[in-house]
Amino acid sequence: MDTLMNVSHVSYAYHTLSGETMALSDITFSVGEGEFLAIVGPSGCGKSTLLSLLSGLMEPEQGTIEIRQDTEEGKTQIGYMLQKDHLFEWRTVYRNVILGLEIQNRMTPENLSHVDQLLEEYGLSRFKNARPSELSGGMRQRAALIRTLALDPRLLLLDEPFSALDYQTRLNVCDDVYQIIRKEKKTAVLVTHDLSEAISMADRVLILSSRPATVCKTVEIRFAAEELTPMQRRQAPEFKDYFNEIWKELNHYA
Ligand code: ADP
Ligand code: MG
Repeated sequence: MDTLMNVSHVSYAYHTLSGETMALSDITFSVGEGEFLAIVGPSGCGKSTLLSLLSGLMEPEQGTIEIRQDTEEGKTQIGYMLQKDHLFEWRTVYRNVILGLEIQNRMTPENLSHVDQLLEEYGLSRFKNARPSELSGGMRQRAALIRTLALDPRLLLLDEPFSALDYQTRLNVCDDVYQIIRKEKKTAVLVTHDLSEAISMADRVLILSSRPATVCKTVEIRFAAEELTPMQRRQAPEFKDYFNEIWKELNHYA
């Protein structure tokens, strides 16, 4: 597997009037092309800070983050999916999902037909002219994901994308989002405080300590049965062993 992103000795602190908050300390890891990496750590440990650095919204104070450059110019490198879907109620579902293309001035026939294909494939075609409030929580997250995928990013960053949903919806949306990411062959980095979610989706789980976050351990996730959905993984015999291993590690450094 080729490396898509290299994170090397990254540290970050917030400087405020009341003092310095050290958020990340000497973080090193890489993300392979096509890999699904989950990053788990306790609330407030620095996960969102780390994703902001990966996305390029913020610069590391120390260390480097390198993403392998695409040969095609003007292509979006990174897509971001957040806890809140940030769909605009004054736009229809369709006008929401093409928003990124509109802003980037990339409403080409190819890109728009890609959007149509995504809406069709993932069951939102019928809702093109609906308003976001007419969609279920799960459909809203799917629409948000399609808006991100419309830009054809090489790397998807997901920041606790399911935590605003109730438990049952969450399990279903998790399955949906997972299938879409796999089918579209995207590289993904998911941060979450929910280790079950991490184990049910990822190829590899990186465990962070409490603040300032350091990398405690990485665990490869392998299931004997292939191509399980997140829901099926939760029922597989290996699941609880991974859960115990990661739980122990998280508590050890808490
Ligand atoms: P997580 O996503 O793991 O819950 P965050 O990355 O959001 O953690 O935050 C890590 C730490 O940095 C927290 O203690 C938080 O209070 C602090 N922090 C986050 N954003 C800011 C900011 N803009 N200014 C000052 N401190 C911040
Ligand atoms: Mg966060």
